[in-house]
Amino acid sequence: MIRLLDASTVGQIAAGEVVERPLSVVKELVENALDAGATRIAVAIARGGLEIVDVSDDGAGIAPGEMRLAFARHATSKLTRPGDLMRIGTLGFRGEGLASIAAIARVRLLSRTRQSDIGYAVDAYELAVGEPEPIAAPPGTRIVVTDLFGNVPVRREYVRGPAAEFARISTFLATLALAYPGVTFSVSHDGRPTFVFPTAGGIAQRLAHVFGPVPARALVELDERDRPSDAVPRVRGFVSTPGVDRADRRMQVLFINGRLLRSTLLAGAWSAGYATFALANRQPFGVLFVDIDPEHVDPNVHPTKSDVRLRHPEAVHDAVRRAIVATLARDAAARMRDALAIAPPGVSPYRGPSTAAGDVREQTAFAVPGFAWNGNGPGDPRATATATATAGPAELRILAQLDDTFVLATDGRALVLVDQHAAHERVAYEAIAARARRGDAASEPLLLPYVVELEAEDAIRFERSRAALAEAGFEAEPFGERAYRVVATPAGYGARAFDVRAYIADLGDEVPGLDARERVWASLACHSVVRAGDELEHAEMTALLARLVRCDNPMHCPHGRPTIVRLEADAIARMFKRT
Ligand code: ADP
Ligand code: MG
Repeated sequence: MIRLLDASTVGQIAAGEVVERPLSVVKELVENALDAGATRIAVAIARGGLEIVDVSDDGAGIAPGEMRLAFARHATSKLTRPGDLMRIGTLGFRGEGLASIAAIARVRLLSRTRQSDIGYAVDAYELAVGEPEPIAAPPGTRIVVTDLFGNVPVRREYVRGPAAEFARISTFLATLALAYPGVTFSVSHDGRPTFVFPTAGGIAQRLAHVFGPVPARALVELDERDRPSDAVPRVRGFVSTPGVDRADRRMQVLFINGRLLRSTLLAGAWSAGYATFALANRQPFGVLFVDIDPEHVDPNVHPTKSDVRLRHPEAVHDAVRRAIVATLARDAAARMRDALAIAPPGVSPYRGPSTAAGDVREQTAFAVPGFAWNGNGPGDPRATATATATAGPAELRILAQLDDTFVLATDGRALVLVDQHAAHERVAYEAIAARARRGDAASEPLLLPYVVELEAEDAIRFERSRAALAEAGFEAEPFGERAYRVVATPAGYGARAFDVRAYIADLGDEVPGLDARERVWASLACHSVVRAGDELEHAEMTALLARLVRCDNPMHCPHGRPTIVRLEADAIARMFKRT
């Protein structure tokens, strides 16, 4: 039953601007649908939400006698007893959502409760709320919001273009869907479906969409076996394994009691758990679901409810760190066992995904530098097998990896230093360019294509490079305004997370000696290969150098930086004042 909150509860509510942009409307409406117990939620957006936000659900519905009240400020069915504000179990609780939306947009509410054979509709705008009229409607609720900010034109100035606003909305919904695997979500923009997450697709489909199909395969599920007692907060989720990480924290998704938080609250805990396993300055990605007794969480601290206050932040920090450490330790041990069991030296060469028949040698060599990612983590039998099969340059002996960035080797006369990223870039670039020129680029179709949404300027750059990318085996197709769906990547590198945005960011750079097409291939190579900071196994270093010495131009990466530096023994002797 919807009721007006009493004056003292209203006084305790964190007031503020609820509707800042179209995303805010979507958030309020979808939260209401979830609170109503919906199992299907459909979101249809037009022009980034500035024209239409239309959310329908199959939840409990609103009785006609309560429809007008739903639009009143501080009217809610979610707090019933005094003190409920101290133990909030729903996403909404202030009774402000619909009132705030009707204040700045036209709203049509259609609803039918499960007990009723017929639905009702009301229109609301500013302070005027109409009378419910009977209407044919399926059980559940549909709310159509039009003319957003029509009466507050200044607010429109803070809103960006439709593509950018829609990008925020679709990112939010895809991320939110991670926490509600029992709910089917479907989202469309300007009449075109953007994504549908049926419950049958499971969490795997949602993880692949949010993190990209390839990085998603590197996620390990946290294991509840490690929770010492029921008194400790429940932590579930998925975290990336060390080695498949990122430079920033943007892909660390956190839910507390089903609420998606933008808070940095647990970022420290997350890193603390990961630190034992990872390189400095690398951040894990993934999603954490923390479930705590509602009395220990206060979501009433922020107008858009995007942050919470915890009663025992240290306990939560500790539970997160502990869950991550235990899971990653178990995962590392399992990988080590697999590597020892399946990869004895001298096994037959890995032939790569069979794309072009024949040309095994090229396939093999091409596969080498794409090693050791995701499912094929360090110690991957494929990488080891390939490297074993590829004869290392007899005259170069690998000594060590320095700072996870340089390979140290010697030919007996000099200390040879190889920049692993530059070297791998050269190898990949020559392989990509050679195949593209011959017109037989091997590409690997992605099982789950993913969508990248771009800013206008980036979309133009990307569009210009698309033909050259396709020649190299990287296929992306237009998918709505300024969005692309990546459907295939060059074979052999498929196991590696390809960062489309980083690729676009340096597309514009001039590279002396390369034409426009070659520049595209160079960028593609750069963003497909190992980086400084990636730990390499001995076999991987051998394979890399073997490939490098066979390149046409082994001494420089496509951008002109040196790949190899030699420190001659006599130069070293001089350093020791031996001459
Ligand atoms: P709050 O979510 O904080 O209660 P809102 O203004 O968002 O406040 O919604 C007011 C009331 O309208 C809710 O408490 C709920 O009873 C009802 N309501 C809103 N949306 C829905 C929906 N999709 N399905 C069922 N009831 C809804
Ligand atoms: Mg609400």
